[in-house]
Amino acid sequence: MISPSFIAEVPKLAHAIAPEIDQPVYVLPHPADLPTPSHCLAYTFPVTSVPIRDRLVSEGRWQGPGPLLCLVDDFERDTLGNRLALLGLALHELAHHLPFVALSDESRDEARVVQLAQFCEWANEDRRETRRTPWQGHGLRFIRTCLHVHFRVQWHAHRFRDLLEWHPLDRDTLMFAGPDYGLSHSYNYRNALGNEPSDCIDETFASILARPAPQAFAELFRADVTAWHHHQIEQEIAAA
Ligand SMILES: [Zn+2]
Repeated sequence: MISPSFIAEVPKLAHAIAPEIDQPVYVLPHPADLPTPSHCLAYTFPVTSVPIRDRLVSEGRWQGPGPLLCLVDDFERDTLGNRLALLGLALHELAHHLPFVALSDESRDEARVVQLAQFCEWANEDRRETRRTPWQGHGLRFIRTCLHVHFRVQWHAHRFRDLLEWHPLDRDTLMFAGPDYGLSHSYNYRNALGNEPSDCIDETFASILARPAPQAFAELFRADVTAWHHHQIEQEIAAA
């Protein structure tokens, strides 16, 4: 199960990674009274979802709108390996909120009804059918963000000994780039990004992402996307 210390520490780490987040960050297991999404291990929303907010209110944890990082699989046992895997998932969801844009408080009852319907539809859909490309929503900008997030975890690790126990966080626990997304491995993107994560350690994500990605990084993504589309065309021709 997800330990109370994990739920308390991950938001602090999130604020250390991106101090520009001036709202609370919530980490919580997927609420059992909502349909369980079959297509993801964790999720978040671009708004403060009212059905999830209800859960935080009932637990006395609600402190106003902010990113909700929901973990679908709680791995049952609180071991270091499981905790690091969950941390990677939570940070993946955090990366979807960067650069940070403050979330509004959708607390009206109408929002609850609409969002509950939207959640149920989303949880039950087959995302393999709806994604146009395997990296949809997880492209160049997301990969760059995740690499900065991952670098900053290591940078701040000494302040989060209870969470990390001095153990390095495997980059791939953040689940970005690589074959699942039809792209090169995260290691290749890390190399292509060069020193940007350390050079920009004091910058906001908005400032970093306002600049074009390093050329080698953009070239790698371009080559990956070109190869993927080429492969699709070849498959279509072969099947004709
Ligand atoms: Zn994602």
